Amino acid sequence: MNQDQIKHNAVKLVASGYIRLLLTTLALLPILLILYIDSEIAPDDVFIAHTFHVIAITMAVLVSAFLSYITWRCYVATGEVLLKWLVFGFWGFTIVYAPHGFLTHHGADNVWLFVLFGPASRLVLSFCFLVAMLKFGEMIKPEQTTSKGLWVATAIFVVISVAIYWVAKSTSLDLNWWLLLAEYVSLSMFIGSVLWMLVQRIRGYIPLLYSIAMVWFALSCWSFSIATVWDHQWWLAHIIFAAGFLLLSYGVVQAFLTTGSFKTIYSQSDLFKQIIQEKKKTERALQELQQVNQKLEQLAATDSLTGIANRREFMNRAEEEISRANRNGTDLSMMVIDFDQFKNVNDEYGHQAGDKVLKEFVRLSKEIMRPSDLLGRIGGEEFALLLPETELSSSIKVAERLREYIEDSPVTYNNQTINLTISIGLAQYQPKVDTVKKWLHRADQLLYQAKDKGRNRVEVERSEGDGE
Ligand code: GH3
Ligand code: MG
Ligand code: MG
Repeated sequence: MNQDQIKHNAVKLVASGYIRLLLTTLALLPILLILYIDSEIAPDDVFIAHTFHVIAITMAVLVSAFLSYITWRCYVATGEVLLKWLVFGFWGFTIVYAPHGFLTHHGADNVWLFVLFGPASRLVLSFCFLVAMLKFGEMIKPEQTTSKGLWVATAIFVVISVAIYWVAKSTSLDLNWWLLLAEYVSLSMFIGSVLWMLVQRIRGYIPLLYSIAMVWFALSCWSFSIATVWDHQWWLAHIIFAAGFLLLSYGVVQAFLTTGSFKTIYSQSDLFKQIIQEKKKTERALQELQQVNQKLEQLAATDSLTGIANRREFMNRAEEEISRANRNGTDLSMMVIDFDQFKNVNDEYGHQAGDKVLKEFVRLSKEIMRPSDLLGRIGGEEFALLLPETELSSSIKVAERLREYIEDSPVTYNNQTINLTISIGLAQYQPKVDTVKKWLHRADQLLYQAKDKGRNRVEVERSEGDGE
């Protein structure tokens, strides 16, 4: 590791430490508010606002019902058991907390009727959320999810609400100690969730939001435990709870809008890592594709038997040579070469012998050709040879040499000697008049003439005035 890397790593370490500190501070910030209100505001300084309370609770209950539904959809989609327990938490909170809102006006005549539902809803919430965390990582198949458990849970929550109503209506005892106990139990279960996540090293974006929300819920329990109804601490407790709830809802809705999963929703840095990895993968795939394409192009351009240019490739290359010749004003020759009586070779020695002859022809031709010359197989046993920058007299010599060379180089196949001859039609490119097709056609015509005139010969185009 060089000096720069060490420095970079050190800064990174400090930066990630700062992030942890920042998040911890954020999670614990409500403590300052709780202590501030506790020490600076007199407990008898109250803010009684029934309607405001009803509206706030109604909103909370509506959001909670909405989250129950969203989380249920995530559960059904992914089969994460944890999500089922989150649903129970949200749904239980919805059912048990709602009476706290619509019984607000009973606060004056029966304070229990008003007050008991609050701690009870937090008990339900903290219990279900703790179980949810304990179920982290447990999965079932999405198609195995059923709503049976939800109906049972709903029944239990309704029974709890009715029971609380009955206790509040019938008791004449002071329940304050029980309320305090409920807040402490809830607080412990919220903190329990966070501790479990720390012990199990449950990391990730939603788990992070979740644990901050759990800390805020726990702090709201503490705030409730030292508050009296309608005082400022009591309102603060509501606010801390609401903040936790909103943060959690943000995470849940994000999960719903993306992967639907508590486990596999990603933080920004995770996403960056993934994008970089995906990019590398795509680049690799692209490279492979380009290589395959090159290979395919090569295959599409070559004749499989002899490995030289096929007809299509030969025509394309001839087109290029024409352009060059036009630009530079140079000569360009083409010969069309056809074996004489090739059918006989096949008939006498077999098709494989014929194939060997074709391959041998290519090998022999290459001994005579210059590197810049282009040989193509344009038909069964028909070849074409392009000679750039070659005037007619020189190309006639090449053609003759080739013809003689083939004649003098019999091919051996299975200890049999096959004598061969070729006929050649040779045509010079005529600038501004010729296309490749026309030019090839002329060379072909000359080849026919060579065949007509007895084979094993080169036939050359006579320009006007040459006479014969
Ligand atoms: P000519 O002198 O008039 O050219 O007589 P030819 O028998 O050579 O007649 P032509 O050129 O028309 O015949 C081509 C023969 O070449 C027909 C076919 O059997 C044979 N042939 C074409 N392609 C192949 C090949 O790939 N392998 C082999 N072994 N034979 C081929
Ligand atoms: Mg032939
Ligand atoms: Mg032929």
